[in-house]
Amino acid sequence: MGVTAIVGANWGDEGKGKLTDVLATDANYVVRYQGGSNAGHTIINEFGKFALHMLPSGVFYPNVVNVIAPGVALNMDDFFREREELIKRGVPEPTLRISDRAQIVLPYHKLFDELEEQRLADKKFGSTKSGIAPFYGDKYLKLGIQVGDLYNPDELKSRLEAALVSKNILLQHLYGQPILKVDDLLEDLLKQAEALNPFVCNTTELLNQALDRNETILLEGQLGALRDPDHGIYPYSTSSSTLAGFASVGAGIPPYAIKNTLAVVKAYSTCVGTGPFTTEITNDAADELRKLGGDAGEYGATTGRPRRVGWFDAVATRYGCLIQGATEVALTNLDVLGYLDEIPICTEYELDGERTAEFPATSKLMQAVPIFKKQKGWKTDISEVREFDELPIEAQEYVLAVEKLINTPIRWVSVGPKREQLIERK
Ligand code: GDP
Repeated sequence: MGVTAIVGANWGDEGKGKLTDVLATDANYVVRYQGGSNAGHTIINEFGKFALHMLPSGVFYPNVVNVIAPGVALNMDDFFREREELIKRGVPEPTLRISDRAQIVLPYHKLFDELEEQRLADKKFGSTKSGIAPFYGDKYLKLGIQVGDLYNPDELKSRLEAALVSKNILLQHLYGQPILKVDDLLEDLLKQAEALNPFVCNTTELLNQALDRNETILLEGQLGALRDPDHGIYPYSTSSSTLAGFASVGAGIPPYAIKNTLAVVKAYSTCVGTGPFTTEITNDAADELRKLGGDAGEYGATTGRPRRVGWFDAVATRYGCLIQGATEVALTNLDVLGYLDEIPICTEYELDGERTAEFPATSKLMQAVPIFKKQKGWKTDISEVREFDELPIEAQEYVLAVEKLINTPIRWVSVGPKREQLIERK
């Protein structure tokens, strides 16, 4: 009952998709409220293995209404492609609703993302080049295109014309590229608009009516707290808020409706892209963890890039849980650490010659040195364990040590990528 936000407390890739898929069994709605198709949520269930980028993670349950809310960057190509793939692979046709206030990722957003990363060369951010930063840039410059605009061709044309003025100057003079013409964009957009039409509605009314009926809503975050543009590691952040606090804004429901915030936390650290990553490990130790991590090694679900890996960072994660306003935690990937004799946990940073447990702003974070304590490893496969008490004592102690450091109750412990590989602590 009620509304739960499922969000990341780290850099993303914590396993939010898995948790959303599990909790969606009892949900009426699963809502994406920010971000676009620039990150993947891996889900392994009776239908197979899927990496969802654009669709909410409730799509495997035909009784769940999956909502793409106003705060999302809608990539129509990815939307259609993923929906078709699900149906082709035997998943019952999902129920999908798209807000007429959501905005569209346009082909030139992707183009500008690519051109800018190329121009920045060795100073690039490691963008997934899905057009997300140019998309949100346009949104806040008031040059974006809402889904609703697609059904008013005259308005659409004039808005595109307005958007292209400055873009064409940049294309010509900054990037040395041919300019764009509205008519070349229009035809495709109108065709896609027709195909999108059956899914489009006022999702704000839909969700608020669901609240009146006291139905169960899951709000599914993308990426993690440390990628939030205000509170994360700016500018190595994403372009929309990744926080549960933004979920009410992006989804269009009252802030007080969100009763639970489940922060998903990984038992070690991974990070895609550039920027400070305090507990990062390299060389053989990193290769080993990368190879054993996740369901098929730590490689990006969107780009296939090797993820940077490191030990658990309690300073960053406590902060991640704090800014998420986490009421409970799901600790994932615990099974992965079963190969280690001793497991380092970063408990504090050393900064300016002093020890601190506070997560600093980026300019200071760059100088932070991790201070580790070591937990005893359990050196065994825990992927079949389903009760907390049946975990080896060393694994229980690792969970309890993390719980104490992050100051948030750990309700779920995930011991494998599959739906059923989950322990609920009673
Ligand atoms: P999300 O974006 O937060 O949903 O996370 P991703 O799907 O990008 O990355 C999480 C990775 O961890 C995926 O490969 C999952 O299949 C995998 N995964 C999730 N939970 C567990 C777990 O408890 N153990 C293991 N070994 N893999 C997990």
